[in-house]
Amino acid sequence: MVETGRHFLQIPGPTNTPLPVLAAMAKPTIDHRGPEFQKLGLDVLARIKPIFGTRNPVIIYPASGTGAWEAALVNVLSPGDQVLMFETGWFATLWNKMASKLGIKAEFIRSDWRAGADAAAIEARLREDKGHTIRAVCVVHNETSTGCVTNIAAVRAAIDRANHPALLMVDTISSLGSIDYRHDEWGVDVTVAGSQKGLMLPPGLSFNAVSDKALAVSKTNAFPRSFWDWHEMIAINDKGFFPYTPATNMLQGLKVALEMLESEGMANVFARHDRAAEATRRAVRHWGFETVCKKPADYSSSLTAVMLPEGHSADALRKTILERSNMSLGNGLGILADKVFRIGHLGDFHDLMVTGTLSGVEMGLAACGIPHRPGGVQMAMSYLLGNNAPMAEAAE
Ligand SMILES: *Cc1c(COP(=O)(O)O)cnc(C)c1O
Repeated sequence: MVETGRHFLQIPGPTNTPLPVLAAMAKPTIDHRGPEFQKLGLDVLARIKPIFGTRNPVIIYPASGTGAWEAALVNVLSPGDQVLMFETGWFATLWNKMASKLGIKAEFIRSDWRAGADAAAIEARLREDKGHTIRAVCVVHNETSTGCVTNIAAVRAAIDRANHPALLMVDTISSLGSIDYRHDEWGVDVTVAGSQKGLMLPPGLSFNAVSDKALAVSKTNAFPRSFWDWHEMIAINDKGFFPYTPATNMLQGLKVALEMLESEGMANVFARHDRAAEATRRAVRHWGFETVCKKPADYSSSLTAVMLPEGHSADALRKTILERSNMSLGNGLGILADKVFRIGHLGDFHDLMVTGTLSGVEMGLAACGIPHRPGGVQMAMSYLLGNNAPMAEAAE
């Protein structure tokens, strides 16, 4: 077991937390009703909006992403309501199960987990729903179990073409701050996000961005809720405060994380993720493996899920890599358990972290005797070398 050097945390979330963010979190805890907090609250509540691409309120919960999933459902639906969900993979399945547990009739369009949600299938189902009993369409933007992205603008267009009033709810937990996302422009009603992936914070905060339509619906929907209620939050957030003790130190970290994203510029942030993902896929292809995602248009820029050849254990490979190289990779989830490992390339990283990660994988493949073509790392390096376009100036 290697214990020297830095641990390589290359799972698709939680991601590496930059030192300035950790330092901000280590500052003394402050009075959450005092003027210093008020300034911080107003600052992060304003700065988080452009990350979602919205002018509307963004609600911040001291909870993991799962909490924000629940908040999204209970603020706009009523028990017994029908929703339409798409089975992109494990995380879509968990959201679907949660809805059922809450007493929501959650219909699931099945898939093989190898592409993003199919907008045409959503449109066809909505057209059948002549009585408009479906209240919401719920999709995962970046399915973290598969590395497949759903085209949210296409889902919006499908709902519009079907002339259906359903709300659009989107999980961006592993895409926000890594892959381009536009809450307002794409007509999303509720966006769900978390702190520990593209936002480069530890786990512990989650978010709901809300449309005017969602806010209006949330004034009359019948789900009982208290902790998750948007309106109590929004009323006091206007002054920079929260209705209960907020996660003050996490918010101190969030302020710095947002400053880092702003100073890099979101276009550069997305380009950095695209580049790392392409380098990773080139290595994977050279080794002779398939990615779980079969549709190039749906390739994820925040992670790559890699299928091992039949008869080889992805969990044994991950264990070897952890012991030999002090690196954590993501495991296969649900039907992909032990067949797939996932390489996270999101959040705070640079080229050497990408090539270092791929080196750890390539050494692990050799150590485990998994047949592959050596030289994947070289492919990634050649790509990164030829693609080192100068960064655009960050927008002021
Ligand atoms: C990580 C993740 C979740 C779960 O979030 P938690 O913070 O673990 O509750 C949900 N959806 C997606 C797409 C994720 O990547």
